[in-house]
Amino acid sequence: MGNKLFFKVKTLTFLSSLLFISLNLTACSTNTILTKQTKCPDIPIDALASISQWGSLVKQVGGQCVNVNSIISSTNVEPHDYEPTANDIGKFSQSKLIIINGANYDQWALKAAEQSNINPQIINIAKINNLKDGDNPHLFYSISAIKKTIKTITNQLINLNRNLSDYFTQNSLIIAKSYNDLQTKITQTKTKLNNKKVLVTESVADYLLNELGLINITPKGYLQSASNEGEISANDINQYTKLLEGKQADLLVENIQEQNNTTDKLISIATANKIKIVQVTEQIPEQYTTINLWLDNIVDQIASS
Ligand SMILES: [Zn+2]
Repeated sequence: MGNKLFFKVKTLTFLSSLLFISLNLTACSTNTILTKQTKCPDIPIDALASISQWGSLVKQVGGQCVNVNSIISSTNVEPHDYEPTANDIGKFSQSKLIIINGANYDQWALKAAEQSNINPQIINIAKINNLKDGDNPHLFYSISAIKKTIKTITNQLINLNRNLSDYFTQNSLIIAKSYNDLQTKITQTKTKLNNKKVLVTESVADYLLNELGLINITPKGYLQSASNEGEISANDINQYTKLLEGKQADLLVENIQEQNNTTDKLISIATANKIKIVQVTEQIPEQYTTINLWLDNIVDQIASS
């Protein structure tokens, strides 16, 4: 009898712990899980990211067991031409885990990481996603790249402190689920958008636009010059203008961190032709703490176009 009662109590405990886990998994989609976490059971790992998009992802996976610094974290900075200060470079010799974007987006950070005298673990996001120099480097707009990166960050954190293996693994599962949820939303939005046409001022959000099934009709010559920060030819501007005036695009995605005379002109033509404009940035705007909350809002804006 006593044994039977014990068994029942054990079963109940087991069932309620399952319920607890599933409640936690539900909570994660709103990111409340990280604020509810208890203190790190060991010494937190110091990590450094060149840009705050990847810094925020390390924070999501590492929770209370990482201290993360990001060098570029403001939407007021032009990341493609960033010149690091001596203070920035000094930080690379204080962190055991360094996360860089790669694909020539933050070459200065790769150099500083490789010259660090404490021999840090370096995560090169472009490398783990098999990108070559010259490929679109804006991987923080690609859900599949982010999911791959979550796995690498988790493994590297565990390598740095095996005592925290359970903590990082559990967190990682919760975070991966929140990106799976976003991916499901993108798939649903894709069906709704049904191959709408899009023009862009720069390639920043292209991975997301592609995952949304949008057809990018931006003239190739324009895009190439814009990515190399080169002079846009009169011919390319003409072609772009004709597409706007002919109302060929359902939507124009503007990178407001990369504005210039040409983009200003194109935006005013788009406005005159009542083409919906969605403004995006390179860095995470300060009202969002994570990539998934940020991209979720952009998907909503595009969905309503
Ligand atoms: Zn860019």
